[in-house]
Amino acid sequence: MIHKIIKLLKSLFLLEILKGLSITGKKLFTKSITIQYPEEKTPQSPRFRGLHALRRYPNGEERCIGCKLCEAVCPALAITIDTEMRDDGTRRTTKYDIDLFKCVYCGFCEEACPVDAIVETKIFEFHFESRDERVISKDKLLQIGDIYEKEEIKDRNNIN
Ligand code: SF4
Ligand code: SF4
Repeated sequence: MIHKIIKLLKSLFLLEILKGLSITGKKLFTKSITIQYPEEKTPQSPRFRGLHALRRYPNGEERCIGCKLCEAVCPALAITIDTEMRDDGTRRTTKYDIDLFKCVYCGFCEEACPVDAIVETKIFEFHFESRDERVISKDKLLQIGDIYEKEEIKDRNNIN
Protein backbone atom coordinates (compact mmCIF):
# COMPACT_ATOMS: atom_id res chain seq x y z
CA MET A 1 0.00 0.00 0.00
CA ILE A 2 2.76 2.43 1.05
CA HIS A 3 4.67 1.45 -2.06
CA LYS A 4 1.70 2.41 -4.23
CA ILE A 5 1.34 5.79 -2.48
CA ILE A 6 5.05 6.56 -3.02
CA LYS A 7 4.66 5.61 -6.68
CA LEU A 8 1.62 7.85 -7.02
CA LEU A 9 3.38 10.81 -5.38
CA LYS A 10 6.39 10.31 -7.63
CA SER A 11 4.14 10.36 -10.73
CA LEU A 12 2.16 13.35 -9.44
CA PHE A 13 5.23 15.53 -8.85
CA LEU A 14 7.10 14.21 -11.93
CA LEU A 15 10.03 13.27 -9.69
CA GLU A 16 11.58 10.82 -12.19
CA ILE A 17 11.53 13.45 -14.95
CA LEU A 18 13.09 16.06 -12.65
CA LYS A 19 15.77 13.54 -11.63
CA GLY A 20 16.57 12.88 -15.31
CA LEU A 21 16.61 16.58 -16.14
CA SER A 22 19.01 17.28 -13.27
CA ILE A 23 21.49 14.74 -14.71
CA THR A 24 21.11 16.30 -18.18
CA GLY A 25 21.59 19.77 -16.63
CA LYS A 26 24.79 18.74 -14.88
CA LYS A 27 26.24 17.34 -18.12
CA LEU A 28 25.55 20.66 -19.91
CA PHE A 29 28.44 22.26 -18.02
CA THR A 30 30.98 19.41 -18.15
CA LYS A 31 33.69 19.05 -20.80
CA SER A 32 32.55 17.34 -24.00
CA ILE A 33 33.96 13.83 -24.55
CA THR A 34 33.03 13.59 -28.22
CA ILE A 35 35.78 11.91 -30.24
CA GLN A 36 36.23 12.96 -33.86
CA TYR A 37 36.49 9.43 -35.23
CA PRO A 38 38.30 8.33 -37.42
CA GLU A 39 40.82 11.18 -37.03
CA GLU A 40 40.79 10.69 -33.24
CA LYS A 41 40.63 7.32 -31.51
CA THR A 42 39.85 6.24 -27.98
CA PRO A 43 42.52 4.29 -26.05
CA GLN A 44 42.49 0.54 -26.68
CA SER A 45 42.83 -2.06 -23.96
CA PRO A 46 46.03 -4.16 -24.20
CA ARG A 47 43.71 -7.17 -23.93
CA PHE A 48 41.66 -6.14 -26.97
CA ARG A 49 40.99 -9.00 -29.41
CA GLY A 50 40.47 -7.98 -33.01
CA LEU A 51 40.96 -9.46 -36.45
CA HIS A 52 42.86 -12.76 -36.59
CA ALA A 53 46.27 -13.37 -38.11
CA LEU A 54 48.50 -16.35 -38.80
CA ARG A 55 52.16 -15.83 -37.90
CA ARG A 56 55.38 -17.04 -39.52
CA TYR A 57 58.83 -17.75 -38.11
CA PRO A 58 61.58 -15.20 -38.94
CA ASN A 59 62.73 -17.46 -41.83
CA GLY A 60 59.30 -17.11 -43.44
CA GLU A 61 58.07 -20.61 -42.54
CA GLU A 62 54.47 -20.83 -41.33
CA ARG A 63 54.17 -21.45 -37.62
CA CYS A 64 50.93 -23.43 -37.91
CA ILE A 65 51.48 -27.19 -37.73
CA GLY A 66 47.88 -28.09 -38.48
CA CYS A 67 47.20 -29.70 -35.10
CA LYS A 68 43.58 -28.42 -35.21
CA LEU A 69 43.49 -27.57 -31.51
CA CYS A 70 42.12 -24.13 -32.36
CA GLU A 71 39.39 -25.71 -34.49
CA ALA A 72 38.46 -28.08 -31.65
CA VAL A 73 38.38 -25.40 -28.96
CA CYS A 74 36.42 -22.80 -30.94
CA PRO A 75 33.00 -22.50 -29.27
CA ALA A 76 31.45 -20.94 -32.37
CA LEU A 77 32.74 -23.58 -34.82
CA ALA A 78 34.15 -20.70 -36.83
CA ILE A 79 37.44 -22.35 -37.87
CA THR A 80 37.79 -24.90 -40.68
CA ILE A 81 41.16 -26.55 -41.31
CA ASP A 82 42.42 -29.09 -43.85
CA THR A 83 45.96 -30.45 -43.66
CA GLU A 84 48.50 -32.45 -45.66
CA MET A 85 51.87 -34.03 -44.99
CA ARG A 86 54.82 -32.51 -46.79
CA ASP A 87 57.58 -34.56 -48.38
CA ASP A 88 59.83 -33.71 -45.42
CA GLY A 89 57.32 -35.28 -43.03
CA THR A 90 56.01 -32.02 -41.56
CA ARG A 91 52.31 -31.27 -41.49
CA ARG A 92 50.91 -28.00 -42.79
CA THR A 93 47.43 -26.64 -43.50
CA THR A 94 46.05 -26.56 -47.02
CA LYS A 95 43.01 -24.65 -45.82
CA TYR A 96 42.56 -22.39 -42.81
CA ASP A 97 39.28 -20.50 -42.89
CA ILE A 98 37.69 -18.39 -40.18
CA ASP A 99 34.06 -17.36 -40.50
CA LEU A 100 34.07 -13.88 -39.00
CA PHE A 101 30.26 -13.84 -38.70
CA LYS A 102 30.42 -16.88 -36.40
CA CYS A 103 33.49 -15.77 -34.42
CA VAL A 104 32.80 -14.28 -31.00
CA TYR A 105 36.38 -13.01 -30.50
CA CYS A 106 36.81 -15.06 -27.33
CA GLY A 107 40.52 -15.69 -27.90
CA PHE A 108 40.31 -19.43 -27.15
CA CYS A 109 42.02 -20.29 -30.47
CA GLU A 110 44.94 -18.03 -29.56
CA GLU A 111 45.25 -19.60 -26.12
CA ALA A 112 45.03 -23.17 -27.42
CA CYS A 113 47.72 -22.82 -30.09
CA PRO A 114 50.94 -24.56 -29.00
CA VAL A 115 53.15 -22.61 -31.44
CA ASP A 116 51.62 -19.11 -31.20
CA ALA A 117 50.52 -19.32 -34.83
CA ILE A 118 47.00 -17.92 -34.61
CA VAL A 119 46.71 -14.57 -32.86
CA GLU A 120 44.11 -11.85 -32.56
CA THR A 121 45.44 -8.47 -33.60
CA LYS A 122 44.39 -4.99 -32.53
CA ILE A 123 42.77 -4.42 -35.94
CA PHE A 124 39.09 -3.55 -35.51
CA GLU A 125 38.41 -1.49 -38.62
CA PHE A 126 37.34 -4.00 -41.25
CA HIS A 127 34.20 -4.49 -43.28
CA PHE A 128 32.63 -6.79 -45.86
CA GLU A 129 30.87 -5.86 -49.06
CA SER A 130 29.26 -9.26 -49.61
CA ARG A 131 28.38 -12.21 -47.39
CA ASP A 132 31.10 -14.38 -48.98
CA GLU A 133 33.80 -12.06 -47.67
CA ARG A 134 32.95 -13.03 -44.09
CA VAL A 135 35.16 -16.12 -44.46
CA ILE A 136 38.78 -15.11 -44.17
CA SER A 137 41.21 -17.55 -45.81
CA LYS A 138 44.74 -18.68 -44.97
CA ASP A 139 46.40 -16.35 -47.51
CA LYS A 140 44.71 -13.32 -46.06
CA LEU A 141 45.44 -14.46 -42.48
CA LEU A 142 49.14 -14.82 -43.33
CA GLN A 143 49.15 -11.35 -44.93
CA ILE A 144 47.64 -9.88 -41.77
CA GLY A 145 50.24 -11.86 -39.79
CA ASP A 146 53.05 -10.10 -41.66
CA ILE A 147 51.53 -6.70 -40.78
CA TYR A 148 51.05 -7.85 -37.17
CA GLU A 149 54.69 -8.92 -36.90
CA LYS A 150 55.90 -5.45 -37.99
CA GLU A 151 53.53 -3.72 -35.53
CA GLU A 152 54.70 -5.99 -32.69
CA ILE A 153 58.35 -5.13 -33.38
CA LYS A 154 57.47 -1.41 -33.42
CA ASP A 155 55.54 -1.74 -30.11
CA ARG A 156 58.40 -3.66 -28.48
CA ASN A 157 60.91 -1.01 -29.55
CA ASN A 158 58.65 1.74 -28.14
CA ILE A 159 58.48 -0.04 -24.77
CA ASN A 160 62.27 -0.55 -24.57
S1 SF4 B 1 38.22 -16.03 -31.24
FE1 SF4 B 1 36.93 -17.65 -30.32
S2 SF4 B 1 35.14 -17.77 -31.64
FE2 SF4 B 1 36.70 -16.65 -32.79
S3 SF4 B 1 37.74 -18.19 -34.00
FE3 SF4 B 1 38.90 -17.99 -32.09
S4 SF4 B 1 38.05 -19.57 -30.72
FE4 SF4 B 1 36.59 -19.27 -32.41
S1 SF4 C 1 46.82 -22.35 -35.51
FE1 SF4 C 1 47.88 -23.37 -33.80
S2 SF4 C 1 46.26 -24.58 -32.81
FE2 SF4 C 1 45.49 -24.03 -34.85
S3 SF4 C 1 46.04 -25.76 -36.16
FE3 SF4 C 1 47.68 -24.24 -36.32
S4 SF4 C 1 49.16 -24.90 -34.79
FE4 SF4 C 1 47.28 -25.95 -34.27
